[in-house]
Amino acid sequence: MTAMVRLDREASGLGMTSQRARDRLIERLRGEGGIRDERVLDAMRTVPRHLFIDEALASRAYEDTALPIGRAQTISQPWVVARMTEALLESGVPRKVLEIGTGSGYQAAVLAMLVEQVCTVERIDELQRLARRRFRKLGIDNVRCRYDDGRVGWAEHAPFDAIIVTAATAALDAALLQQLAPHGVLVAPIGGSGGQQLLRLRPGEAGWQQELLGPVSFVPLLGGTA
Ligand code: SAH
Repeated sequence: MTAMVRLDREASGLGMTSQRARDRLIERLRGEGGIRDERVLDAMRTVPRHLFIDEALASRAYEDTALPIGRAQTISQPWVVARMTEALLESGVPRKVLEIGTGSGYQAAVLAMLVEQVCTVERIDELQRLARRRFRKLGIDNVRCRYDDGRVGWAEHAPFDAIIVTAATAALDAALLQQLAPHGVLVAPIGGSGGQQLLRLRPGEAGWQQELLGPVSFVPLLGGTA
């Protein structure tokens, strides 16, 4: 079962205003953004992004922009979340997805609306705790969280039908690639701090099949825990 967001008054926070703002954002993602997958747009219409950032920034939650979440990290731009999610779903809905870089938990929550099981790893304990609390508050019960260096994935729950890396790296660890199922798909921002290309990888008959999906800008994938 995919997750359903609990939309009581407390959880919805900004109430109707936020629903209207969210609807406008969805229209923008579909229009200028060129996002075509209605399943993804529906999921993003459901998840209250303002509850994944600090209250002081909540009024900006439905702008199509990345925002700070503390500890020098960011919640990804909605268009990037939409594009990456669409890229994961294109050749069929994965059952179990691994995310590296939980951050605010927003991307994981969007995925939780669409797939059966999300496993997500975060190297900053404080962010991981806040994300867990948000999932609980929203009644999202199909996300498993882990506090660890996610560069080597989460072997215990492998294989994954899809892997999404939400921090930038020049190279992916072989251990992570090994956790992808034979029919799987991986999406990751590849490159240095100057900007990255979104890369989609699929295991093919003659090695990895690679596609570049366009330029993106992510905070770096770092080693160790904090
Ligand atoms: N998906 C997030 C955005 C992520 S920002 C969201 O929806 O809000 C990138 C996150 O990756 C940061 O929280 C950062 O701490 C985390 N990160 C960086 N390197 C990591 C690593 N090796 N393992 C796990 N998480 C990592």
